[in-house]
Amino acid sequence: MSPKRVKYVLPGLLVLPLYSWGFSYEAPSISPEVESGYEEKPGWSAESFAVAAANPLATDAGYQVLQAGGNAIDAAIAVQMVLNLVEPQSSGIGGGAFLMHYDGSEVRAYDGRETAPQGVSGELFIEDGEPLAFMDAVASGLSVGVPGTLRMLEKAHAQHGQLAWADLFTPAITLAEEGFAVSNRLHTSLASEELLRQDPLASQYYYDADGEPIAVGETLKNPALAEVFRRVAAHGSEAFYQGAVAEDLVQRVQTHSVRPGSLTLDDMSGYEALDREPICTPWQQWEVCGFPPPSSGHLTVMQILGMLDKQPLLEAPLDNGASSSGWLHQFLEASRLAFADRGRYIADPDFVDAPGGDWELMLAPQYLQQRSALIDEMSMGDTAEPGNPGELEVSWASQPEQPEYGTSHISIIDEDGNAVAMTTTIEQAFGSRILSDGGTGLAGGFLLNNELTDFSFEPEIEGEPVANRVEPGKRPRSSMSPTLVFDQESGELVASLGSPGGAAIIHYTARTLVALRDWGLNAQEALNLPHAITLGDGVFVEEGRFAEATIDSLRERGHTVSERELTSGLQAIMRLNDGTLFGGADPRREGVVMGE
Ligand code: GLU
Repeated sequence: MSPKRVKYVLPGLLVLPLYSWGFSYEAPSISPEVESGYEEKPGWSAESFAVAAANPLATDAGYQVLQAGGNAIDAAIAVQMVLNLVEPQSSGIGGGAFLMHYDGSEVRAYDGRETAPQGVSGELFIEDGEPLAFMDAVASGLSVGVPGTLRMLEKAHAQHGQLAWADLFTPAITLAEEGFAVSNRLHTSLASEELLRQDPLASQYYYDADGEPIAVGETLKNPALAEVFRRVAAHGSEAFYQGAVAEDLVQRVQTHSVRPGSLTLDDMSGYEALDREPICTPWQQWEVCGFPPPSSGHLTVMQILGMLDKQPLLEAPLDNGASSSGWLHQFLEASRLAFADRGRYIADPDFVDAPGGDWELMLAPQYLQQRSALIDEMSMGDTAEPGNPGELEVSWASQPEQPEYGTSHISIIDEDGNAVAMTTTIEQAFGSRILSDGGTGLAGGFLLNNELTDFSFEPEIEGEPVANRVEPGKRPRSSMSPTLVFDQESGELVASLGSPGGAAIIHYTARTLVALRDWGLNAQEALNLPHAITLGDGVFVEEGRFAEATIDSLRERGHTVSERELTSGLQAIMRLNDGTLFGGADPRREGVVMGE
């Protein structure tokens, strides 16, 4: 391991009481000295196993599980529970997740996406005939989907786990009871957050009487979450989906002071995590395996990459100079075309048919050749129309797609070569801004998702039903793109990666794959590159990271360009030719990689 690790894990481990016999956890004392904003990171090497997550305490929990002989699934569970505690704004048991798993021979896709309650209609977000303002919908009971993360992890653990389920909660329970040092990112997210202060539990827990958020480095305990974790550790996910915890969650949604939601106890107890068929797509020497619908991630990423492969080869944009705008232009135009297809076709496959009956038709080489041929010298701007990979009569709708911070990514490769790529979310930062104490009456708790705002607010456009409209029991379309990469020839695992970032997850993931395969960058260098994205209309380039000449040159090609913060939270671990691992964590967030 690189000495950089020492920066995050201070010497002198504090040994805390053990809660189980199979796995002994030592809570490290972690200094939250990582500044928010962009910080160069060195990348991390490891011989046999590695774990990457968005917070050092979470990474460390996964590391300790792997060290104790746990496998990638075990580590993912420990990491997720600690993330729920230390990065509560981004993921947790109140939200949903997609997990890609490789067990040395087979790739599986576990779907823990939230579902719409049975009581919803297609007009969920329509008020007085008009779609609600986005943030009004978010901060409400209406947006809360039935959480899926816990059931999904329980299912994956039943099939692949090695350590006892209960042991995997020990790190999070210990840290919740003993307290953890609040990170910069949590502090700054709380400071800039207005809506969360309106939730009575959250305002008491995260802010002082003057409305100041808990300071960086201050110790925060979460007794409510510790108690919920203890019950789930002892009794499994039933302790969450039924009984006191479920009752509290339902009651908070149903009695929301502004816009109550319809979530019921039956919705909770009826939640099922699903096995999906992963989509594995050849991409020159690699095979890229990703999540199928209800995620639009893999299909859209691979459409972009497939179209790019059909474009004339240009100099890679590594120098941030004017010469790079040619590649950026191709990338942005391919993104526009791919997003047009995404908007039109992709939704929950249990409710909507794939065009032509097969999602992979969207990735057919002839189709992508046709689409790629639409890319011209000048930008098509917002005129990109969906293509017709099959036959389907549904409208497409573009939605407000905002930068989002309510998501986190975990990548793990264990010493037996099993791998996890898991992207986990409560949607917006702090989700629906509803904190549940699980009915414990103790301080703290966990946040409920606002995942239902990932549905189209409008059920129909010009009289045609929208594929991603709200329907009871349906899962909203996602952009999450947890990805496992294999070498086509040897079949060996090459990488595990993914990112948060709302719809821009797709650009972050696609560009990282290009940087790893075509530009020969390592897993850290690839994540350091500046971002450029478009969802169809304007182009956003990462603030302060592109040369003026590049931006001017994009403008000359007809792109409307503005600069803004693009806070990806990429995590990637690659297996190198000599069999060792090299991991990277996004310089824009607090993540680190640990391994041995
Ligand atoms: N809710 C988004 C999705 O599933 C992810 C949000 C984010 O990345 O912050 O696509």
